[in-house]
Amino acid sequence: MSDRGILIVVSAPSGCGKTSVLARLMQMRTTLHFSVSATTRKPREGEKDGIHYMFITRDVFEWMIRENAFLEYAEYVGNYYGTPRAAVEQQLRSGQDVYLDIEVNGAMQVKSKCPDALTVFLMPPSMEELERRLTFRGTEAPEVVQKRLREAERECSQRDKYDYIVVNDEIDRAAEEISRLIDETRARLSAGTV
Ligand code: 5GP
Repeated sequence: MSDRGILIVVSAPSGCGKTSVLARLMQMRTTLHFSVSATTRKPREGEKDGIHYMFITRDVFEWMIRENAFLEYAEYVGNYYGTPRAAVEQQLRSGQDVYLDIEVNGAMQVKSKCPDALTVFLMPPSMEELERRLTFRGTEAPEVVQKRLREAERECSQRDKYDYIVVNDEIDRAAEEISRLIDETRARLSAGTV
């Protein structure tokens, strides 16, 4: 058990700053592996295929569902998102920690399949701040921003389903808190108390 890597599942409303927290966490923990999801969403400016996401068609996504190729998948604001299973399982077996950045439905699927996973909900400091960040980012049309804000409210209302809630008031502090939770989870699993 203790030789396996830790599976870390982080959900956060879009615009909450989770990409910055992840970048900081990856600097702090160089062996942490980011799981690249597949999605049917179109790439945003600057996003690269195979690095940020695997950008695939609905047909290919649905074929992968039938092949049981996803650890979890969900539909979010009109697009499919899913975690390819094989890479995650191989990395965990080889002792690497794996980080999943996924939404609530997918996180709950992972928790029920992998009870040892560490689940964290990353909260924005406030909904006003989230709206400000989403609007400022300017990558989505106003109606999509509104859709994402409604989705964010729905997601925040489910935060108690996670093992821990971390407020992203400050990137370094939030990353350090998640890093400490990873260490605590490893210690608990090694001691066999979970
Ligand atoms: P975005 O379009 O802003 O990149 O992501 C939208 C939402 O999809 C975010 O909440 C993100 O965490 C989630 N997401 C990204 N990859 C996956 C995945 O593989 N599975 C699930 N269930 N959600 C994902």
